[in-house]
Amino acid sequence: MYCKVIVDIAHSQVDRIFEYSCGDDVKVGCRVKVPFGGRVTEGFVVGIGETPSFDASKIKPVKYVYDEQPALVPECFALMRDIAERFRVPAAVALRLFLPSEMRLGRVSEAFTKYIKLADPDISLNKTAKKQAAAMQELKSGDREYASFCAKYGRAAVNAVVSKGGAEVYKVRRSRTPLSGEEEPFLPVRLTPAQQAALEYIEKSDKTVQLIHGVTGSGKTEIYLSYIAEVLKRGKTAIFLVPEISLTPQMLRQLRRRFKGLAAIMHSGLSAGERFDEWWRLRSGEAKIAIGARSAVFAPLENLGAIIIDEEHDSSYQSETAPRYSTAEVAKLRAAYNGCKLILGSATPSVESYICASRGEYGLVELPDRINKKPLPEIIIADMREEVRRGNNSVFSRPLREELSRALNDGNQAIIFLNRRGYAKTVICQDCGYVAKCANCDVSLTYHSEENCLKCHYCGAKYRMLPACPECGGVHLRYGGTGTQRVVADLKQLFPSARILRMDNDTVSGKDGHYKILSAFGRREADILVGTQMIAKGHDFPSVTLVGILDADMSLHFSDYRSGERTFQLITQVAGRSGRADEKGKVVLQTCSPENYILRYAVNYDYKGFFENEVKIRKATLFPPYSLICRVMVTAEEDGAALAVLKQVYFAVDELRKRHGEEFIFFNKMHSPIKKLQGRVRYQVLMRLRSHRLLPQIYDIAVRCSSASALAYVEENPANLS
Ligand code: ADP
Ligand code: ZN
Repeated sequence: MYCKVIVDIAHSQVDRIFEYSCGDDVKVGCRVKVPFGGRVTEGFVVGIGETPSFDASKIKPVKYVYDEQPALVPECFALMRDIAERFRVPAAVALRLFLPSEMRLGRVSEAFTKYIKLADPDISLNKTAKKQAAAMQELKSGDREYASFCAKYGRAAVNAVVSKGGAEVYKVRRSRTPLSGEEEPFLPVRLTPAQQAALEYIEKSDKTVQLIHGVTGSGKTEIYLSYIAEVLKRGKTAIFLVPEISLTPQMLRQLRRRFKGLAAIMHSGLSAGERFDEWWRLRSGEAKIAIGARSAVFAPLENLGAIIIDEEHDSSYQSETAPRYSTAEVAKLRAAYNGCKLILGSATPSVESYICASRGEYGLVELPDRINKKPLPEIIIADMREEVRRGNNSVFSRPLREELSRALNDGNQAIIFLNRRGYAKTVICQDCGYVAKCANCDVSLTYHSEENCLKCHYCGAKYRMLPACPECGGVHLRYGGTGTQRVVADLKQLFPSARILRMDNDTVSGKDGHYKILSAFGRREADILVGTQMIAKGHDFPSVTLVGILDADMSLHFSDYRSGERTFQLITQVAGRSGRADEKGKVVLQTCSPENYILRYAVNYDYKGFFENEVKIRKATLFPPYSLICRVMVTAEEDGAALAVLKQVYFAVDELRKRHGEEFIFFNKMHSPIKKLQGRVRYQVLMRLRSHRLLPQIYDIAVRCSSASALAYVEENPANLS
């Protein structure tokens, strides 16, 4: 037998298929060890044949076969080709997406338990071998676990019985299943007429992609879960994607309660062993639902009956490392391959998705009401310019202070949102204007009061707090821009008896840091939760009746075509945490531009109004989806290397432009807004194109121009233009 192998080396020069001879234990989808260029490397078997395609005497044999059951499902190969072609990456890089990283390079192996069983009861034993005889006797009554069996009779005796053919040792795969333990009963809910109608609509629709636009608390989750239950009944499998799984312990509990061992969880908070085992449970068919963040779209499931993307507008669904895929795009390919539906859900769908739905390319389900018609919380705008005029320079407006004391007096909980961690965004010298910056990155440092240090939020570097300005020696250092640590400190002064929890990247260290904070707040061990956008995601805390948004303008003034959309989404999502149970909720939104139209739409929960206005603007100004923003990034350690590659990229794209001028709306080369990151300088060729037509050629240019010392890569409609 001969097999075709893709070697696991991420280099375009070895990006083709190699042939090896093999035994019949090798199957398509297996991982193998093969000799390659004087050493041994890992590879993936992509084909098997009886005859070699060239001189058999020159073909080397496979050295080792890893899997009894092929690790890769057949669908991988079709997807691998699409992804490799679309993003111009070697096939091996595309295939890696389908395997948990610990599986490659043999860093973790499967956990096995060894057992021993009777093979031949009639072997002859030495008369003096009493232990061997006793061991044989016990095996006649059934199989035993090997380790404890050895402990009982002695390893020597057990091995002697085995070598004489009296007994056999065998292995059974063992699962390190995460989050097992507490078994709560699942109480089925009766679907509301709106949920029922939504499921029927999706079932009947002939469109692959279905968009559920439902306000926060409208019961979308129940629709997803009912749909998955239906899919399982038909003997199929499902993928359920959520933005950041560690942020949604409630969702996990719900899934486990309902689907028990059929649900497998894929997320980075698991130990390597757990991740690996959950992956195998899916691959072996023991588990049928994959739940996870972006990368779970590559779950090793066959016979998919549904893919669900919750909070589809979330930017975490865009990969920021090569290949830079969009999760929905990959999910569409998988849904088409399996002939199943892709369900996107959100209270604030992305403009792109909603356009597709309004054009009839996607099915559309609208859920305008919360479950039981609970009202959406009232949003009060606090004009911070007015506050300053009245002499209030604190971060809390008067309305927010009043509402906070009311909520606390009534025994309710509150959430305060500010999307900046640390104590102060910058440290500025008041004498000379010096701003403390990171040595590796072109960004200012954030002051952290708890550790009394300065931190870079881009590369994680830590610096000692400055005693004086390093430029002029002045000692009048000022803190600019409030962060969550400062908010907590100020709240403690305002409400000395309130119990306060903080949730941001600094407080959630460890495997279940998120879970601990959220469940403590859920158990009402605190009155106020202060946090960054991690608290905006789908949490359901019944006692929260007040949400404060401290700086609604923060995302509004980014120079990004999506800043309005992001602000609208963020306000709606954060506001949605308030008043989910019996008591009416309120939201106080602090801003310096209360007349801004985005805020106006958000305050009235007017998604349609926001959407129509946004579409008008994007059409008129030719921004996505009415164009494509394409950026070729060039990064390097040395300025010279970067500039040389930048020049090449620029000239190659300029050649394209000379031939296809009509495709270009904008084209330029420049420094990236952040000129240096993690020790690498950053340049970019930025363009806006009328369509995707030239994209393959631009990807080719980036691959061709990359050098050993400077990397060039393409980003499409980047979420972050820094
Ligand atoms: P969404 O995902 O749209 O934000 P959820 O699915 O979290 O909404 O539902 C909001 C609340 O309504 C949850 O507390 C949920 O348990 C409850 N709920 C959902 N569906 C039903 C139903 N059919 N009957 C009663 N309560 C429901
Ligand atoms: Zn840095």
